[in-house]
Amino acid sequence: MTAFVHTTHAQRVFFGTGDGPRHLGAEVERLGAERIMLIAADQETSLAAEVIATVPVTRRWNDVAPHVPIATAQAATAAARNDAIDLMISVGGGSTTGLAKAIALETGIPIVAVPTTYAGSEATNVWGLTENSRKTTGVNDVVLPVSIVYDARLTASLPVELSVVSGLNALAHCIDSMWAPRTDPIDKALAGEGIAVLARALPEIRNDAGQTLAGREDALYGAYLSAVTFASAGSGLHHKICHVLGGAYNLPHAHTHAIVLAYVTAFLAPFAQDAERRIASAFDATDALTGLNDLRAAVGAPTALRDHGFDGSVISEAAHLILPSVPPGTPRPVTADDLEVLLRAAWAGDPPTKEMFRS
Ligand code: NAD
Repeated sequence: MTAFVHTTHAQRVFFGTGDGPRHLGAEVERLGAERIMLIAADQETSLAAEVIATVPVTRRWNDVAPHVPIATAQAATAAARNDAIDLMISVGGGSTTGLAKAIALETGIPIVAVPTTYAGSEATNVWGLTENSRKTTGVNDVVLPVSIVYDARLTASLPVELSVVSGLNALAHCIDSMWAPRTDPIDKALAGEGIAVLARALPEIRNDAGQTLAGREDALYGAYLSAVTFASAGSGLHHKICHVLGGAYNLPHAHTHAIVLAYVTAFLAPFAQDAERRIASAFDATDALTGLNDLRAAVGAPTALRDHGFDGSVISEAAHLILPSVPPGTPRPVTADDLEVLLRAAWAGDPPTKEMFRS
């Protein structure tokens, strides 16, 4: 028998296309909230208006920036305190959820999250803050939203390109969970379902051109599964690499995940038998990398970090920054040379193969 300890985080999770306003209203009533702060970026104002229709709002906050700058978090926290807010409702992507989490970290005010991308922050107890270009992350149960309201109608406006990279970000949570430091059979089962769902959903979104919401509904379900497994399993090598690239070189979050994932899979999957079998099976492919490469081709995934602001001259430096954070239990030894090979290939967009690494 396998021995393991698994923590399940308590959240109430609503799914229902078009049901967001009703679910949100019911949840606000159940929680007995009276002074609500709505957090939604300027760009998401009309989405927020749609979902918040029946909920009285005390304070609206729309200053949202990527990676939660500390000054923004402090200003929003002061506003929440000043207005004696007793519930936050965040409507937006991972940056918006992240701001609500930063306020919760200081104040303990509960969050109801209404996600409009597939980043998955709404189902984790991980927070992040950026000060002087350095991103700090931590884990605290107080930032875990009490409830999540998923409504695929709110993702209809997310452009196809952004939907694909955001969905690949969710896929990265699933695949990296297969070899992350605290992974267990429950995480792997959820991750396997997440991979299968996302592998079906993303081509539907790509091909659907906004005709139906079926792919976007599935992608939200996959995003939730991906975040639950990531919250439990922790960051594997892939997340450590993306964290350094995002923090030190300010690369775009979802695009970085979408590109790096294939190279980490090429590097690790051949050394992780159980993960390899599960990922391949979820993709219904001969092996993990083939399944992932086929999906990337089908959805027109971004291929090269050099197209997204990564400067090739820092590859060696980046490899040395990543090396100390290689997670325990990574299924093969990792050297600075390996990381350089991986980053150079991801920078150039070389087709990812397991042969590109030393055997
Ligand atoms: P994001 O929230 O910055 O959104 C990306 C862009 O999409 C923004 O311009 C936003 O305005 C736009 N957008 C969002 N929803 C839209 C919609 N429905 N229609 C049209 N445009 C829409 O990016 P993201 O990828 O969702 O989140 C990335 C952030 O989340 C990063 O800071 C990352 O570190 C964080 N994150 C945290 C966790 C965690 O567990 N703490 C997990 C995943 C991601």
